[in-house]
This record gives sequence, C-alpha cells and structure tokens, in this order.
Amino acid sequence: MRKRIILLGASGCIGNKTIDVIKQHEDLYELIGITVGKNWQFADEYLSNNSVRYCCCQFENDAERLTRKHPNVVFYHGDEGLQQITSIEGVDLVFNAIQGFAGLMPTINAIRHHTDVAVANKESLVAAGDLVVKEAKEYNVNLIPVDSEHSAIFQTINGYQHEDIKKLIITASGGAFKNKSREELKQVTKADALKHPRWQMGEKITIDSATMMNKGFEVIEAHVLFDMPYSKIETILHPESTVHSMTEFNDHAILAQLGVADMRVAIQYALSYPRKIDNSTESLNLCKLGSLHFYEMDHERFPLVKLAYQAGEMGGNMPAILNGANETAVDAFLEEKCSFLDIERINFKVVELGKEIYKKDSDLDDIVYANDWATSKAMELIKEVH
Ligand code: MG
Repeated sequence: MRKRIILLGASGCIGNKTIDVIKQHEDLYELIGITVGKNWQFADEYLSNNSVRYCCCQFENDAERLTRKHPNVVFYHGDEGLQQITSIEGVDLVFNAIQGFAGLMPTINAIRHHTDVAVANKESLVAAGDLVVKEAKEYNVNLIPVDSEHSAIFQTINGYQHEDIKKLIITASGGAFKNKSREELKQVTKADALKHPRWQMGEKITIDSATMMNKGFEVIEAHVLFDMPYSKIETILHPESTVHSMTEFNDHAILAQLGVADMRVAIQYALSYPRKIDNSTESLNLCKLGSLHFYEMDHERFPLVKLAYQAGEMGGNMPAILNGANETAVDAFLEEKCSFLDIERINFKVVELGKEIYKKDSDLDDIVYANDWATSKAMELIKEVH
C-alpha cells in the first residue's frame, strides 16, 4: 500500500521539491492533501493536473473560488483549516514544510492525531522543541528530520546507542557573505543576501543562512531531535556543503553523510526512511571535487550562533522569543525596512528584553505568548530604525 501523505506548505521551495520526489515514486507515495497559504494560484494549477482529495488555503474566498472549480476536492481555510487537514484519519505522514512559527500548531495537531511528522518547519522545533518532542513521545509518533544537517546526523546515528555519541558536528557553508568583513556587512542589500552560494532555498532561510541564525537554530533543532546537551553540539564552517553533518562517537570515529547539495535527498529519506531508494539526483564525484575544507566557526563574525546557544541553554520560552524576534526582523529586512546588521541587533535586544518574561517551565500558551511578545518588541525596534 502506498504511503498517504499530507503536504503542508506545498507551494514553497521545500514543498515543490517534495512534490517532485513524490512524483518520482508514485508507486510508493500518494499525496492526498496540500496546503498552500495565500498561493491559491498554485493550488488551482496543481489540482487541475493532479488528483488530490484535500486542500487548505489561508483565505476563505480563495477556498470558495477553488471549490467552484474543483468540486471533487474538499477545501479548508485559515488556522482552523490547518487543524482540520492535519486531523484527517488514515494519513501515514504529515510533511510540514510551512515556513515560520505558523507551522507549530499543525505539527502539534498531527502528533495528537497519531500521525508521523516529517519536520521541515524548523521554527516549530526551535520555538517549542521540548513540547513537540514530549507530545511525540506521549502519542508514540515519529518526528523525522528533513533539514539536511539533521537528516545527515539521523543517518549517521542510526543503529548506535545514544550514550556512545561523543558529539554532533553541524556543518555550515557560511552563507552569502562568508567572505565579507563586519564593516562590509553594513552596506549589503537584500539582493546580495539572497544569493546563497550552495543551496537553493526560500527567501527567509537564505537570509537566516547569511546571518548564520539558521545555524544557531539548527543547533537548537539538533538538541531537541537528538536529545543532546548543547555542550556536545559543535558547528564548523565547510564551504563546499558536501559533508552535510557528522557524528563523533566515544571511540573517536567520526561518521559523516556526504552528497550533492540537493534538498531532494533529505526530503526523500524522510519519506522512505528507513529505506534508501533510487532518485534522480547526481552521484557525488569526489575525485572531481578534489578537496574539502573545514574551518572553526567564527563567533565574532557570526555572533548569532552563540546567541542561539544561550537561548537554547536557557530553554523554556527563550528560544521562542529569539525565533519571534528573528522572524519579524527578517521580514522587515526583506521589505527593506531595516538593514542586514539590524537583524542581529534586534535579535540581541529582544532576547535581552525577553529576560523579563522568561519562563523555564513553559506550556504551549506560554510559547505562543512569547512569540507574540517578541514579535511586537521587534516591530517597535524596527520602527525606531526605519
Ligand atoms: Mg539546514
């Protein structure tokens, strides 16, 4: 029987690639539902050419318009629609490729309906990782990593004992500005920041890569997914993006996962796990590549990595505060309402202010409150600089 999948965030970059992977293996996977946010045009085109039973849009009038055109599809809308589509019975996997904090509630809801979740929405693991993992355990649900680094670690630890792991080593390409000085960063534009040297990704994560916030978030994500203390998670610079991450064991053997920088490999593994199946990506030609380079993470140059470690160590609602601040600052940068270095400043400032509302034992309501609080604090700061 084919694996029945609901894809959240189908119209985004990861969503598109996931559809690609599913299409290559239609004998194995069946896409039964998609969510598209505001992009009803994507849904319209997709539904005209493919058979999907369920679809959720952000707005009610878009859902109504699509209902008239595609009478065989069940449409939902808004936050309630996301709850409904993640509550459908008989689904084998919810693949969450929604961007940002908005992906949290659908992850929780899918878990509460006993459905495994492939988590490409890293913000849900950053903002509320402890809660998400706790719920997954309680409902006996698998959380499958999709982020390339975490997919790599997931593959390298497979079959080993948790206590035998010495440390996780997360690689970072360095992003669009790896060769720029702090001084040069004052002048960079949105267009410059969107040119990632290795990976083709959505706008938000490309900016997060340039600020290195993405790597900081991946440290929190690794802590959550692999139950590792922060002292055992290292980040290193690796400009080729060929080694997608590594695990060192107690015997000092390091296992790494290598491959071309194509997200479809990690996406496919999240679908096929624990099987390794054929795909259309290229083989990695190591001889042609010749050499690989690794450098220590430069924490002066990329201070947001340390900030993520600090927020992660504090735990509770602090990672949600950092995530809320960052999401708001990146949106503002993309709308050209603040400078590139303002993203850093806003994140530091909101985390500092956030100590006022810091709560170690945070429930879901506390996390949502922390996100809203951080968003409004960040907005105030953006108004000051704009
Ligand atoms: Mg990544």
